[in-house]
Amino acid sequence: MMDAPLLAVHNLHVQFRTYAGIVHAVNGMSFDVRQGEIFGLVGESGCGKSVTGLAILRMVPHPGQISQGSILFHGEDLLQKTESEMQTIRGGKIAMIFQDPSASLNPVFTIGNQITRVIRQHMPVSRAEATERALAMFAAVGLPDPDNIFHTYPHELSGGLQQRAMIALALATGAELLVADEPTTALDVTIQAQILALLTELRDKQGVSILLITHNLGVVAETCDRVGVAYAGCIVEMGDTEDVLYRMKHPYTHGLLAALPHPSRRGQLLQAIEGTVPDGLALPSGCPFHPRCSQVMDICREKQPALVSLGSDHLVACHLYDEQRS
Ligand code: SF4
Repeated sequence: MMDAPLLAVHNLHVQFRTYAGIVHAVNGMSFDVRQGEIFGLVGESGCGKSVTGLAILRMVPHPGQISQGSILFHGEDLLQKTESEMQTIRGGKIAMIFQDPSASLNPVFTIGNQITRVIRQHMPVSRAEATERALAMFAAVGLPDPDNIFHTYPHELSGGLQQRAMIALALATGAELLVADEPTTALDVTIQAQILALLTELRDKQGVSILLITHNLGVVAETCDRVGVAYAGCIVEMGDTEDVLYRMKHPYTHGLLAALPHPSRRGQLLQAIEGTVPDGLALPSGCPFHPRCSQVMDICREKQPALVSLGSDHLVACHLYDEQRS
């Protein structure tokens, strides 16, 4: 029997009440992250993936609200926790890193000061023990000359080293789950590859499970064990990375992959998906992808397809694969 997942997000809905109306940012998002895996949540901007990451840590900014669903971590619903319980979980068992590490690191304190403070907030250790742990984390994330880094201010580090410092800070208290929201998007390609290799190494050596939020299918292909493709705030296809990227079923996943450059299509125009991501203020009826789908049928305009299993771990939400229709 398969172990219970470390994190199970089920039917998550997040809304933003604005003057223009209710923006439905996340609409029934469901996926899980298993122990020791890297799960990719991929989609275009505006598909609800970053809001989902924030919802897991109960950090959705005002005026956002989690209106429905559950987020089980070790089987316990984070949505039922008190704010003080969440403060212990945040930065303790679950940590998050973002695209721009310089925005997350405090510019007026040294890296060493920031990391030892976080360690001592979450662990009953002396200042000396916290320093020792910080230096060990700097070494684990490949920061050169940890003693020197300890006394360095964030602005004195390059983007790649800042992101390594941020990862050290995130994992210094023994986090079991790292939510990484576009952690390499702001970095150049070489550094990006190094940070992705680091995430894989941390998973392999320290057993950290990672939810990797990205718009980049190349990042998914290189790094993730499984992937969920998000569209209009819900998952439309999910499974092992190989199945989803090489044996994709959903027309949206087909579209995303067809839009990527590939040596076999040299000289051909890239095939962008027509239309734009739907406005969360006025989501389409039925399948949210129907206004852009080349295979749309009558039922697609009326009924939202449920995620159905295609065997093994591969799931797809599309009426083309409904059992009733086959
Ligand atoms: Fe296209 Fe219909 Fe499938 Fe939606 S349900 S992706 S509109 S075929």
